Amino acid sequence: MLRFRIRNAPALILFFLLFAASCAFGQSSRGTATLAATSSTQAQPPSSAQRPAPQTSVQVRSYTLPPDIYEKAVKYSRAQYILYFISFVWGVIVLLLVLSWKLAPKYRDWAEHAHNRFVQAVIFAPLLLLTIAVLGLPPDIFGHWLERNYGISVQSWNSWAWDWTKSQIISFILGIILVWILYAIIRHSPRRWWLYFWVITLPILVFLVFLAPLVIDPLFNKFEPLQNTDPQLVTALEQVVHRANMDIPPDRMFLMKASEKTNAVDAYVTGLGASKRVVVWDTTIKKMTVPETMFVFGHEMGHYVLNHVYKGLAFGAVVLLVLLYLGFRGMFWSLSRWGGVWGIRGVDDWASLPVLLLLFAILGFVASPISNTFSRHIEHQADQYGLEVTHGLIPDSNQVAAQSFEILGEVDLSDPDPNPFIEFWIFNHPPLTERVNFALTYDPWAEGKQPEFVK
Ligand SMILES: [Zn+2]
Repeated sequence: MLRFRIRNAPALILFFLLFAASCAFGQSSRGTATLAATSSTQAQPPSSAQRPAPQTSVQVRSYTLPPDIYEKAVKYSRAQYILYFISFVWGVIVLLLVLSWKLAPKYRDWAEHAHNRFVQAVIFAPLLLLTIAVLGLPPDIFGHWLERNYGISVQSWNSWAWDWTKSQIISFILGIILVWILYAIIRHSPRRWWLYFWVITLPILVFLVFLAPLVIDPLFNKFEPLQNTDPQLVTALEQVVHRANMDIPPDRMFLMKASEKTNAVDAYVTGLGASKRVVVWDTTIKKMTVPETMFVFGHEMGHYVLNHVYKGLAFGAVVLLVLLYLGFRGMFWSLSRWGGVWGIRGVDDWASLPVLLLLFAILGFVASPISNTFSRHIEHQADQYGLEVTHGLIPDSNQVAAQSFEILGEVDLSDPDPNPFIEFWIFNHPPLTERVNFALTYDPWAEGKQPEFVK
C-alpha cells in the first residue's frame, strides 16, 4: 500500500489490524487506505462471453515495461513516495496545530456542558476527528488528483467526496466508541490503561475485521457472487481449489466492480470465520486470461490456506500493544512538559487525545518498515503457493505467473527499480522485478524436491 495516511487514532489502530488482516495480490491494500465508492456511468462488468481473446503474449524473461510506460511508472512511483512522506509530515503538523490552537480544550469545554460521559464522547470525538480530517484534506486531494492524472483512478471528484464523507461517518462511530472506552479506562486505571484498553479493544477489532466485508466494504464498492457473473471462471477456480485438496465453496468467491473507480487490477482475501472470502476485481478478470486469473487466485488462496488473515491479526495485535505502551509513556512525558501550554488538565482529560494521536502517528510511521517487512514475507509465501497450486494444472505455469505480474505492473504502473530504502520502508509486496524472477525460476519439481505448501 502506498497510500497510507494518518487521519485519526481509530483509523490508525484499524490500519494495523485491517491492513494486516486483508492480503492483496498487488500494491493496493484494502484496509483503511483506499477511498472507493459508487460512481455510476462506468462499463458493465465483463463476463466470460465478453472477455477478449487471450492476447498472444510475448515470453516474459524479466519485469520489463515498454519505454513510455517505464517512464510513466518511474514518475508516478516517485510522486507516490514523496506523497507518502509529505502526508506523514503534514499529519504531524496538523496535530501540532490542533494542540497549539488549543482546539481540543475548546471542544472538551463544549462537551462538558453535558454530564453524561458518553454524551461528552459523542460531542468531543467527532468534532476533533472532523477537524483533523479537514485539515488533512490537501494531501488526500493531491493523492486522488495524482491517480486520476496517471489514469489509474477513473473516479469522479463527486464520488470521491462522497466516499470521504462516508469514511468520516465510519470513523466518527468507531471514534466515539473507542474514545469513550479509552477515557473510561484511563480514569479507572491511570497506570495500566494501555494494557486494559488493549485487552478490551482486541475483540472489538476482531469483530470489525469480521464485519468489514459484510458492512463496510459494500459502502464503497459493489460486490456480487462470482458465480453470478462468471460461472465459467468459478469452474476454473474450483480446479485450483481441488488441486490443493482444499475447500473454498463458490459462495465465498466474490467479484468486486472496481472498474467503476479504477483501472488497477487486484484481488484480495478478507474477513474472518463466516465472512472469510476471496474477492477478485472485475478489472483483473477483464485484463487477464483465465490461466493468469487462476494464478492470481492461487496467490489469494495461499493467503486463505496459510491463515494469513489470522497471522496478520496476531501480528497487528502485538504491534498495537507496543504502540499503546509507548503511547502511555510518551503521553506522560509530553504532558509533563507541555500539558499546561496546550491547556490539557491531565491524561484523563478528553483534550489529551490529540497528544495520543500524535504519538501514534509518529510511532506508527516508525513501525511501518516492521509491518511492511512482515507483509512482504507473507506476500512472497502467497506467490510461492500460487506457483505450486497451478503447477501441472495450467500449461507453462511459471510463464503464466510472470505474465500476470507483467500485466499488474503495466496497469498499476509499478516501480521497475525501487530504491532499497523505499522498498524497506513502504513496500508491502516484494518489488515486481523480484516477483517475476521468482516466478520464472521457482521449480522444485525439476530438482526432484517436494513443494513446500501444496504436496
Ligand atoms: Zn497477497
